[in-house]
Amino acid sequence: MEILPVSVATRGSSSPKNYLHTGGGKPTEVLWKRVSWHDLKRRNRPASKCGGGKLPNPRKSATTWNVYPGFKLTSLVRRATLKENEQIPKYEKVHNFKVHTFRGPHWCEYCANFMWGLIAQGVKCADCGLNVHKQCSKMVPNDCKPDLKHVKKVYSCDLTTLVKAHNSKRPMVVDMCIREIESRGLQSEGLYRISGFTDLIEDAKMSFDRDGEKADISVNVYEDINIITGALKLYFRELPIPLITYDAYPRFLDSAKALDPDTQLEILHEALKLLPPAHCETLRYLMGHLKRVTLHEKDNLMNAENLGIVFGPTLMRAPEQDAMAALNDIRYQRLVVEMLIKNEDILF
Ligand SMILES: [Zn+2]
Ligand SMILES: [Zn+2]
Repeated sequence: MEILPVSVATRGSSSPKNYLHTGGGKPTEVLWKRVSWHDLKRRNRPASKCGGGKLPNPRKSATTWNVYPGFKLTSLVRRATLKENEQIPKYEKVHNFKVHTFRGPHWCEYCANFMWGLIAQGVKCADCGLNVHKQCSKMVPNDCKPDLKHVKKVYSCDLTTLVKAHNSKRPMVVDMCIREIESRGLQSEGLYRISGFTDLIEDAKMSFDRDGEKADISVNVYEDINIITGALKLYFRELPIPLITYDAYPRFLDSAKALDPDTQLEILHEALKLLPPAHCETLRYLMGHLKRVTLHEKDNLMNAENLGIVFGPTLMRAPEQDAMAALNDIRYQRLVVEMLIKNEDILF
């Protein structure tokens, strides 16, 4: 374990004094452990278009190499690059603090001071179990590492929380459904447009909630491919924060409202940077898949426009609940997804 400079420890804190105060009784290891984890994260954060957490696309890396003439890309280097690309990115996640009444004496895991009072002495993170003073919670870095014992479900769980809890790059539902759909071929007519039988989709959802990455969605269990596409769409619909987050939503909508294609792409490119890295990475992966779906249009009759109709409202929800405005937004949502699919290769 390394002992780190105070400047790192106090990043974002208005009161370094508070941080340095180690209090009585309680040893300070916890404090240092948290700091070094945060610092490691900062050092290892990869550069990306997706706001910090996305790793370079292997296809794109190859293009990047060509930019430097004279640089010979040996197979060894290429292998190392690809291997690196498979690593799990270190996504940042904010803690999910809730006021908590602690039984017995408790010390803050941020400042190491005693938590006074009989009830509501501090806050506890519902995802990782971190206990801190209410005041200290504002200064804790976004290094929440959800614990599987706290994160029980897959559906309706915050996307970043899920991937951090399972230590994966993307939600396993997305990877598993897409792999299953592609392995069955993408020729099925009306892929993603045709709805599967609701009870069976619910059944697939329950199996993900119960078994996580061990869920069986093979053809032996769900013969109809529309159950798998339905389970994937349902996953996105039930996200508490949509894949295209409320914060980024207005910017994405702006892109669809722009008049010329160049401006549209420019705004879209900017909008992608507003997404949390895990959301951006999942969107990139999904758009790559949907692009492949469109390559089989003559069999499945699904082009980018049709998929935009299906996925627009699935991936985007208006931040405010005004029914009229929400209804008016739908055509732009469709257009955003259509543009993302068509330009997937240059945007990500
Ligand atoms: Zn937490
Ligand atoms: Zn504290």
